[in-house]
Amino acid sequence: FLRVMDDTRALLRAAFETENELTVAMSGTGSAGMETCLVNLLEPGDKAVVWVNGVFGQRMVDIVRRIGAEPIIVSAPWGRIIDAADVEKALAQGGVKLVALVHVETSTGVWQPIEDIAALAKAHDCLFVLDTVTSLGGVPVRIDAWGVDAAYSGTQKCLSAPPGLAPVTFSEKARQTLHARRRPVQSWYLDLTMIEQYWGDDRAYHHTAPVSMVYALREALRIAHEEGWEARRERHLRVGRALQAGLEAMGLTLLAQEGYRAPMLSTVAVPEGVDEAAVRSYLLAEYGIEIAGGLGEFKGRAWRIGMMGHSARKRNVQLVLAALGDALHRQGQKVPVEAALETAAHML
Ligand SMILES: *Cc1c(COP(=O)(O)O)cnc(C)c1O
Repeated sequence: FLRVMDDTRALLRAAFETENELTVAMSGTGSAGMETCLVNLLEPGDKAVVWVNGVFGQRMVDIVRRIGAEPIIVSAPWGRIIDAADVEKALAQGGVKLVALVHVETSTGVWQPIEDIAALAKAHDCLFVLDTVTSLGGVPVRIDAWGVDAAYSGTQKCLSAPPGLAPVTFSEKARQTLHARRRPVQSWYLDLTMIEQYWGDDRAYHHTAPVSMVYALREALRIAHEEGWEARRERHLRVGRALQAGLEAMGLTLLAQEGYRAPMLSTVAVPEGVDEAAVRSYLLAEYGIEIAGGLGEFKGRAWRIGMMGHSARKRNVQLVLAALGDALHRQGQKVPVEAALETAAHML
């Protein structure tokens, strides 16, 4: 099993494109990864700039507050990216320890550009924390090249493993911050000073490893490695763009800002007069397809269609377009399904 852990670490480093020594899989889902990064790096009274343009940015704010740190919230409307100029303004206040943002906001389908913001964080000597729960394995995540200090992910999105682990990676700078804390990490379970000793050479027992999940993650990473990370990202992009073009050809409106749409998660506006929950139930009952409803501000107004990991394939694009077309017909909407299928087919 210790060898399996080592393999998993090496594969995670490849996935994150990092040489970071402190790269582990935390016990828990993606949210445990989020909490790990924030609770290990922040202490009460610290200032953290958090970008909020969806549910997951808001969750980070909640965690920052529970730590007793002070969140400085920079927001953008749902469905829009965050502007680097607003980052500059927030950092100009001074005394900011950490900047955190979400790479792909799964509640809105927005794919945030990272490089400019990472550079700004570095220029202000702040730690840069990135949520890669949905992005890892689906779009490029370059931890070292971008200068990300701490990142976390989940296993059940584009890595296509069961839910239950949260890959986390800390740069040397983040590690030094961790070891220079004035007080112990508030969470015993997520304390990386102890967990790094279990994943490192000491193998010091901390909590029982969720053994079967580590095996599952290792296997999922091996499958991704075999396909090739680049090929996997190319597949997500091709499939996502084809789906989005098909949805637009059907006359539907995409909710994420054009030019910044995540390939693995498409958000669609529910047309006027359509019962959004009825459409979802119909897809599930008749086709075995589960699409998600909107979260937060998009509740009742949006559908979210995932094309993640194993499910990001040609047949699913055509299937979901045809099934959604059928469901909309049942709702009395005359949508051009043929045109949608044809548009998507050209791009697949
Ligand atoms: C899913 C998700 C999370 C939370 O992950 P859980 O596995 O549900 O705990 C956090 N951030 C983003 C962007 C997500 O998509």
